[in-house]
Amino acid sequence: MRAALFISGKSGTFVPMEDIIRLLPESVANQIAAGEVVQRPASAVKELLENSIDAGSTEITLIVKDAGKTQIQVVDNGCGMSERDARMCFERHATSKIKTANDLLAVRTLGFRGEALASIASIAQVELKSKRTEEENGTLVKVNGSEFISQAPVSCKDGTSVTVKNLFYNVPARRNFLKSNTLELKYIMEEFNRVVLVHPDITFRLYNQEKLLLQLSPSNLKQRLVALLGNSYNQRLIPVSQETQLVNLSGYIGKPEFAKKTRGEQYFFANGRFIKNPYLNHAVENAYHELIPTDAFPTYFIHLEVDPQTIDVNIHPTKTEINFQDARSIYAILNSAIKQSIGRYNLTPSLDFETEKSMDLPPIPEGHPVQQPAIRINPEYNPFEKQTKPQLEINYRAPAGEGGNQWKRLFDPIKEIHPGHRQPTESGEEPQPVIPLEKPVEEVNSVLQIDHQYLVTTIPNGIVIIDQQSAHERILYELFLRQGDSPSSAPQRLLLPQTIQVTPDDAEVVRDISGLLEKLGFEISEFGKNTFLVHTVPSGVAQSEIQSLIEAVLESSKTETEGFSQKGEQKLARTMARKLSIKPGRSLSQQEAMSLIRQLVNSSAPDLSPEGKPTMFLLSFEDLDKKFKHTT
Ligand code: ADP
Ligand code: MG
Repeated sequence: MRAALFISGKSGTFVPMEDIIRLLPESVANQIAAGEVVQRPASAVKELLENSIDAGSTEITLIVKDAGKTQIQVVDNGCGMSERDARMCFERHATSKIKTANDLLAVRTLGFRGEALASIASIAQVELKSKRTEEENGTLVKVNGSEFISQAPVSCKDGTSVTVKNLFYNVPARRNFLKSNTLELKYIMEEFNRVVLVHPDITFRLYNQEKLLLQLSPSNLKQRLVALLGNSYNQRLIPVSQETQLVNLSGYIGKPEFAKKTRGEQYFFANGRFIKNPYLNHAVENAYHELIPTDAFPTYFIHLEVDPQTIDVNIHPTKTEINFQDARSIYAILNSAIKQSIGRYNLTPSLDFETEKSMDLPPIPEGHPVQQPAIRINPEYNPFEKQTKPQLEINYRAPAGEGGNQWKRLFDPIKEIHPGHRQPTESGEEPQPVIPLEKPVEEVNSVLQIDHQYLVTTIPNGIVIIDQQSAHERILYELFLRQGDSPSSAPQRLLLPQTIQVTPDDAEVVRDISGLLEKLGFEISEFGKNTFLVHTVPSGVAQSEIQSLIEAVLESSKTETEGFSQKGEQKLARTMARKLSIKPGRSLSQQEAMSLIRQLVNSSAPDLSPEGKPTMFLLSFEDLDKKFKHTT
């Protein structure tokens, strides 16, 4: 129908018959803006809560009905609004928070765009009651779908109450788009959490269907987290704190052993606002690298305080994405602060969090490498779990020590064994001992193998139980990743290359990953149809094992979801380690067992298999005492 708008001009060009550009009616503009600001009840909740915080409230109550679909009400005791402001606030770009463009650079309030109330009022029926302390009476304003209905004086408490009814009543398409009440309520809770975690000093209440779901009294962040997430979090959190010129970090991270299978508990806040930042998320996850299973996610609640001039918050209407000017430095500071906290927790496992305030954390010296701490123990791993009663509670805490060296220290007596020399096995033909033997020295400690799969030994403060296969996997895994790093870990060249045959499909895979294989010590060249020649093998691998090892690698390349494209070396090394590791059922001599333990404690993460499962756990004498002795 467009042509109907035009008539042919004399010159043969088309000119518009009438002006077609018109300012959109305000109500339509608001609706369009609402589409950006308010996607669901949770978004309205977020905006209202933020307004209450910006108003300086110390008590905020959120009341929702039908997951916010029929009603959302936020009541606060903040500064309130004058009669005029209570009307004005529904105008688009009505804000008290910035006056000039310059103010934008220094915004410290949560809102500033002046869009939220206008947007919400365009798609719902809104009642706003507000009273300033200095005023006798409050004022009640009603707006339906951007349409001003009424304003009248009302007697009410100091502060503001905004009630949003029937969200999207005039936009059926959006209303139909809403999810189940359960899901919408979950979204609301998420927004609620994001707000209450930034303001532990504010009292919050949450009602759903007239039932009080949550009451949060003023507290510190730790207590707020525990109030929100449950008492078990008292034991799960480690404080993080770092002050630098660029950024001040504070908050809590989860102990590695409590890492979750989902990303749920990951929170960054920048200048008091929840943000998402995949780059910084990486800085945290990287600090946990090798400390948690590859499919688990660390818990964190981290506040970043930066100069508002160095961030750009305005790149997204809902303002969860944020750009930092010096993101790379913040990444580095964050990464090292997290590592430091995990390390510190390992050093002082019995740290009492209630003392956090008096704790003075020294900053990391410039350029000081942060030791990757190595202790985490899987709380799920309970060797007694097959027994139903009595439930044994074992203290899984890491023993005290330096960074990743705790286990080494505990194993000191074993470490005193002087390493002997390995017999080089050039041809790889002669049977290699499964575990390279050290020169036997007088036995400092004895190791007991039980059930042909666990090694039990004592250390100064208790008993350690080691899973022989996981332990050996850890040793081999590191050996493979270190191929060529030192003469003793150099790949061995075979006197005669060994031929391996694979299927045509697999030949493709071998070609694909031949670069990776070479890094891990396998030099391979193609030799005719689906046949390859193996020239070198990783140190620690016997020639007789080549074929089966390659088969295992090919097999796992099919089951790994993204093949070996990501973290290929580690995955490959893991597969090989698993394949070659000593399995349950293999009995070990005293010397082999000792050697295994010695090599394990000298690895970089002795208590963790390459898959992130525990290789050992400590049953301390303290725990034993608790079990057997009566205390007064
Ligand atoms: P913004 O928060 O971006 O300024 P809003 O549309 O959310 O925009 O709010 C518009 C204005 O209404 C705010 O700037 C503030 O002056 C006022 N206002 C909104 N909610 C409250 C409240 N709970 N208490 C006091 N003033 C409020
Ligand atoms: Mg606002």
